[in-house]
Amino acid sequence: MKVKIRNDAKCCGLAEKKYGSLKKYKDCLFICIGTGIGGAAFLDGKLLEPQKFAGFEFGHMIIEKDGRPCSCGKKGCFEQYGSINAIKQRVVKILGEKSDISGQYLRENLLIKDDPLVKLEVESWLNYLKVGIGNLIDIFEPEAICLGRKFFTL
Ligand SMILES: [Zn+2]
Repeated sequence: MKVKIRNDAKCCGLAEKKYGSLKKYKDCLFICIGTGIGGAAFLDGKLLEPQKFAGFEFGHMIIEKDGRPCSCGKKGCFEQYGSINAIKQRVVKILGEKSDISGQYLRENLLIKDDPLVKLEVESWLNYLKVGIGNLIDIFEPEAICLGRKFFTL
């Protein structure tokens, strides 16, 4: 049997494009917000695929000059500010919680706390998401964007 192995976020995007919310769009994006930020870009109905290296990696677009260090070796990448991991690390630090909390615990308990520092951090996180997604809109001019997450990461 022929098997293809791909990046997880691109697979999620392909599933949305073939069966889900992006099915009727030719030019569209799937943005996966989880431990990092990944995604898939479709132009004229086709997935844009890198020819040599790991191209079209939305999460490694720099949105903060000389910002937080990233696993890719650069500083200020989108995923260091807009991922679930990014907000989790900030909120855990503010509240003095254990760093191994689940995403569900984060959403259901910490992000809704009436703590002014948490509220500021959530607002900052949302603003970074707006900047990153806005950049992607300017680059790809998509008809639609699907935001998703890998449910097994949180
Ligand atoms: Zn990076």
